[in-house]
Amino acid sequence: MKALVYHGPGSKSWDDVPDPVILESGDAIVRVDTTTICGTDLHILKGDVPTVAEGRILGHEGVGTVLEVGSSVRNVKVGDRVIIACISSCGVCTYCRSANPSHCLADEGASGIGWILGHLIDGTQAEMVRIPFADNSLYTLPEGVPDDAAMLLSDIFPTGFEMGIEYGRVKPGDTVAVVGAGPVGLAAIATAGLHGAAQVIAIDYDENRLGVAKQVGATHCLNAGDPDVVAQVMAHTDGFGVDVAVEAVGVPATFLMCVDLVRPGGNVANVGVHGKAVELDLQKLWIQNITISMGLVNTTTLAMLLKLVAQHKLPASELVTHRFSLQDIETAYETFGNAAQTHALKVLMAR
Ligand code: NAD
Ligand code: ZN
Repeated sequence: MKALVYHGPGSKSWDDVPDPVILESGDAIVRVDTTTICGTDLHILKGDVPTVAEGRILGHEGVGTVLEVGSSVRNVKVGDRVIIACISSCGVCTYCRSANPSHCLADEGASGIGWILGHLIDGTQAEMVRIPFADNSLYTLPEGVPDDAAMLLSDIFPTGFEMGIEYGRVKPGDTVAVVGAGPVGLAAIATAGLHGAAQVIAIDYDENRLGVAKQVGATHCLNAGDPDVVAQVMAHTDGFGVDVAVEAVGVPATFLMCVDLVRPGGNVANVGVHGKAVELDLQKLWIQNITISMGLVNTTTLAMLLKLVAQHKLPASELVTHRFSLQDIETAYETFGNAAQTHALKVLMAR
């Protein structure tokens, strides 16, 4: 088969590789019908994720059709259309049993990290992929949910909802600020209403993305380039700040902006993946009763979010801006890598 193979920092190619085979009784082989590129894949290509070995097939998001199952697989069968969760979950280890499969202990490297696809084992940017723990890591698609919408449920929507809205403890009536309106921030914006947020303020530099934020549920949009953006939020919230500030970028400046935006007693939910330390003024912050949360997505809400997408209660395919065929994946990478120019949000590749 063909697959997008990582050859070390700065290098990838669409190569001929052996077809995947069943290795464990809980495995399934899935034909990839639609896949996409995540910001994390760009981080890997920059060399920021040294745990990815050369020769690894990238990709941790996908929608496909089951081609083969191992002898112990019960939940999916050959021919099923499935969503591939970005977290592979054995379902029985301590972490899986306490609803933290992001730290599943059963992966082949026993790394204690549930994100293995396109990281520690071969991923979804390929014609076929082997999925371990298929019973817990694949979700059968109901009829009528197109690949476009389903694709957003592998990672983006569970991440925005679990790490932004759930960890941020959004409650009815809250005002929520989401800093960063990329796919993940947009997913937090789109799901804030599930916990009853009354107002959602989207903050980004990119006016195009702020426009999409408005479409998927933001009540207010502010340009991060405005020097008085924090003051504008204060003016909007009785002077004390928002109940919950969601960080969906992953740089110190936006994390610190969230700390500035949140009211005493509020929550800062960090979703962004950070590459640098952030200095916190604890001498000023301790007295504010702020809770700070962070984490790797668990995908434990994927099935619930899928029901909402199936009932057209959540916008999802709205985030898809570009479509390519799988063999044009290198052009897709270029388009996604130049998002500021191309206005790319989610770039899909289909067989
Ligand atoms: P993205 O790069 O597409 O979006 C980031 C957005 O932030 C862009 O629209 C950009 O214009 C905006 N931005 C940059 N600097 C800003 C600033 N100073 N103020 C306001 N906005 C600013 O990324 P994404 O795919 O949406 O992902 C967002 C973050 O979530 C990334 O750090 C990603 O690695 C992380 N992520 C975390 C998890 C998890 O499990 N915690 C899972 C997936 C992704
Ligand atoms: Zn586990």
